[in-house]
Amino acid sequence: MKDIVRGWRHIPQRYNLIGSKCSNCGEVNFPKRVICPECRRKGKLEDIKLSGKGKIHTYSVIHTPSDDFKILSPYIVAIIELEEGAKITSQIVDCGEDDVEIGDEVEMVFRKIKAEGEEGVISYGYKFKLSK
Ligand SMILES: [Zn+2]
Repeated sequence: MKDIVRGWRHIPQRYNLIGSKCSNCGEVNFPKRVICPECRRKGKLEDIKLSGKGKIHTYSVIHTPSDDFKILSPYIVAIIELEEGAKITSQIVDCGEDDVEIGDEVEMVFRKIKAEGEEGVISYGYKFKLSK
């Protein structure tokens, strides 16, 4: 029981959206980079906490998922352009394929990704849902 509580407490730190921002050109990347892809050594990168809000840049509906995702079929995977400018790929949850359009506003949510083994170790991660 104690272990479960400890696991929960660590979720915010582990899954905050921390990207990097270049103080030279202003480019934001997620996951964070060690070196700016634009400026190389001229750039100086700083951590930036991303809001988790963005818009759908493009998306696909996946009809032939792997075994891990059997219960989720079909599911939607989108490239999301975050407010800060970084693009990330994530699953869109809590909606049907007809509900999603390019340009829709989305926000990050934490979801169970998978449970494995007899001990029921559960993995969490970020996904996105439509902001409405
Ligand atoms: Zn840069």
